Amino acid sequence: MTKKKKMPEIALANAKKVANCKALQKKIQALYKKVAADLAKEAAKIPKDGKVSEKIKRNYLDQYVKQLEKEIDKLEETIYKEVQVRMGLTAQAVVDANIKWMGKAGLNLAGAFDTIPEEVVKNLIYGKVYKKNWTFSKALWKADSKIKKDIHTIVAEGLAKQKPTFDIAKDLEKYVNPSAKKPWDWNKVYPGTSKKVDYSAQRLARTLLQHAYQQTYRQVIKKNPFVTGVIWHSVFAYGRTCQACMDRDGQRFDKGKEPLDHPMGLCYLEPEIPLSMDEIVDQLADWAHGGHHPDIDEYVRDAFGHSGR
Ligand SMILES: [Zn+2]
Repeated sequence: MTKKKKMPEIALANAKKVANCKALQKKIQALYKKVAADLAKEAAKIPKDGKVSEKIKRNYLDQYVKQLEKEIDKLEETIYKEVQVRMGLTAQAVVDANIKWMGKAGLNLAGAFDTIPEEVVKNLIYGKVYKKNWTFSKALWKADSKIKKDIHTIVAEGLAKQKPTFDIAKDLEKYVNPSAKKPWDWNKVYPGTSKKVDYSAQRLARTLLQHAYQQTYRQVIKKNPFVTGVIWHSVFAYGRTCQACMDRDGQRFDKGKEPLDHPMGLCYLEPEIPLSMDEIVDQLADWAHGGHHPDIDEYVRDAFGHSGR
């Protein structure tokens, strides 16, 4: 426990990751809710039953579905951008934490590591850190396609069950709203459709933020001579933390050898720092006065090598 205090700034970086996650989660929810609200306005335009022919009602519904699909595409684009912004902020928080900590020890790294957040985001969204042929845009597109498939299932099942057009429209609205409570028999009426429309997007967002945090962490401590390893910490969230993560809690890894957390992971990392802060301050002071410390030389060179100068 005493070790934890050696780089308190890093706990702050994790807190920022959590805050970014929450903000993003709310944003994604709000985006879907907005689509549902827009749909509600459209549904109001559908003529009530008995007033118009079946054919006209079908036309209304088709228009309605088309509009919905367009909105889902727009939403996908917005999510794609928003997630990257939050990934960048999370990565930056880790960079800042390290700079701040080194600053406290007497090493001014202001402006260092400044290309890392962008590199990390790119490597993740283009799937470079994953083995499979995966990209964020493809994954989002897949999630989007599933939503569209669900929309068509709802329309087809609704028509087959001879539900009034207005009711089908209302069910679509319910489907798109992640906060709308679905009736208990939802999956019986609309088999195979998701009960939480934003589940896939949320899962991707959360995982990418966690990985942005981890990857940046790996980059910034890589050459830091005072950090000798990585200690894994589990959050022990009730019902959320899995056994593998609980078992991994407190485990030490060599730098760069810690695993990537699984999807939606919440774990955080702690640097292993064997020296006391005073010892670090002394070494840095000696280095500043011309003392021979090739590891510090290399660290500083690497830190600013990332600044594009
Ligand atoms: Zn786990």
